[in-house]
Amino acid sequence: MSNKQTKTDVILIGAGIMSATLGTLLKELVPDWNISVFERLESAGEESSNEWNNAGTGHAALCELNYTTEKPDGSIDISKAIKINEQFQVSMQFWSYLVNRKLINKPEEFIKQLPHMSLVHGVQNVHFLKKRFKALSNNPLFHGMEYTEDPEKLMDWIPLIMEDRNVNEPIAATKIDSGTDVNFGDLTRKLFTHLESKNVNINFNHNVDGMKRTNDGSWELKVRNIATGRVERHTAKFVFIGGGGGSLHLLQKSGIPEGRGIGGFPVSGIFMVCNNPEIVEQHHAKVYGKAKVGAPPMSVPHLDTRFIDNKKSLLFGPFAGFSPKFLKTGSMFDLVTSVKPYNVLTMLAAGAKEMALTKYLIQQVMLSKEQRMEELREFIPNAKAEDWDLIVAGQRVQVIKDTDAGKGTLQFGTEVITAADGSIAALLGASPGASTAVSVMLELMEKCFPQHIDEWKPKIKEMVPSYGVSLLKKPDLIKEIHQTTAETLGFIEKKQGSPKIKTRILQEA
Ligand SMILES: Cc1cc2nc3c(=O)[nH]c(=O)nc-3n(C[C@H](O)[C@H](O)[C@H](O)COP(=O)(O)OP(=O)(O)OC[C@H]3O[C@@H](n4cnc5c(N)ncnc54)[C@H](O)[C@@H]3O)c2cc1C
Repeated sequence: MSNKQTKTDVILIGAGIMSATLGTLLKELVPDWNISVFERLESAGEESSNEWNNAGTGHAALCELNYTTEKPDGSIDISKAIKINEQFQVSMQFWSYLVNRKLINKPEEFIKQLPHMSLVHGVQNVHFLKKRFKALSNNPLFHGMEYTEDPEKLMDWIPLIMEDRNVNEPIAATKIDSGTDVNFGDLTRKLFTHLESKNVNINFNHNVDGMKRTNDGSWELKVRNIATGRVERHTAKFVFIGGGGGSLHLLQKSGIPEGRGIGGFPVSGIFMVCNNPEIVEQHHAKVYGKAKVGAPPMSVPHLDTRFIDNKKSLLFGPFAGFSPKFLKTGSMFDLVTSVKPYNVLTMLAAGAKEMALTKYLIQQVMLSKEQRMEELREFIPNAKAEDWDLIVAGQRVQVIKDTDAGKGTLQFGTEVITAADGSIAALLGASPGASTAVSVMLELMEKCFPQHIDEWKPKIKEMVPSYGVSLLKKPDLIKEIHQTTAETLGFIEKKQGSPKIKTRILQEA
């Protein structure tokens, strides 16, 4: 039975980091627009954005080896690393704006500076890392990166990893101190608290079951109040599908042609966590290794210091797992019900092509704790099983679509799908994920609100001074952004008379 109907300007489906970011940007740009949020769970940031459901890496391509590839001529392609780094600088500037304006507080609760390192073994990998270091360290975005093959220096950088290690093959690492550990769950909750104070209508325990176009081009959502079972109808001129793993089903329900031919394949993440303070204290970095052959890029093993609930812990993983659910709290029928007549051939083509991934997932699912410990011991040679527990993290639904590379190609990035008229948009995929939420949402706004974007530009530049500017071409600007965001987010003490990036860039634009 339907007992409630509302009309609003914007509806955000899902209360994860993406909806939180879009809602906050819109409230700064057009404070008088009415925004409603519908979230099926009891609170914000409980799915992939939750601190225990992701690795909390502020992805800036400082340590992730899969963002730099070796070209056939042996040189290193750093274009993806540059893009991801620039996107992360956008996030850092927006978060700093919010802290400066006191729209969110206590940045130390959601972001901490932490060295990012890449660590490799074997002649070929060391050769690759050295070339990668040369290509990146000359670039101002990666300023401060160090490289070593010296076991003594490594002992100083990563004692837990180097202790009791047989160094019988070449080993090398890079380190950059300006990396970050981000508690995306805390940030999401902070942003929703802020949105609530701006009269955004936030409805938890409300599941969006369906949607249809109305005659005037708006969208009517069928929303089920989970607590009462009542069905409500809510209409908006613009809808953002920020349902994380739930977005594909919602996109399909919208019926927009742009959503056809897309499928999804879920990969779970499993981490090992160490809470033994004696071990935890011996490590202070995020150390990324190289993915195993056949492993998908998001399965690159890493050993991370994490700061969660005012406590330091260590996380190792992720191991891949398989569950047909698209959300951690989803249904066992999610995968099956996402296969439709219009995407079945794409899905079948992907199934046939991705045998290596299927094999890898089966192997991963079958791993015993001791086998997982063996993988951990490649990082910490004397790791003891009693110090480590398994935790199941979030689901990542990888996008499958037909591309120039062929039918049914598995995508590992993030995809924004928008209707031709910009009235609805969905975010699919999960990598580089939360770290790039701000630039992805700005890109979405350019696509969906082209009629407003020029008028919004000055305010966007106030929030994100580098908006529309290629940082790479402005080394001085990179320095200023690094300095001011580090000061505002509490990484370093505020210097007297620090430059005001805002004014300078506005003059340049
Ligand atoms: C194992 C793992 C490790 C990761 N590591 C990192 C990392 O180190 N760094 C990084 O930047 N990113 C990382 N990510 C990616 C990052 O977590 C995600 O990109 C990001 O959290 C996605 O945010 P979101 O708002 O789109 O989705 P979510 O946080 O999942 O939020 C979606 C919300 O929508 C709700 N919802 C879904 N369907 C409906 C419906 N029908 N009605 C109402 N509500 C609905 C859900 O309940 C959920 O609360 C990782 C992800 C995983 C799984």
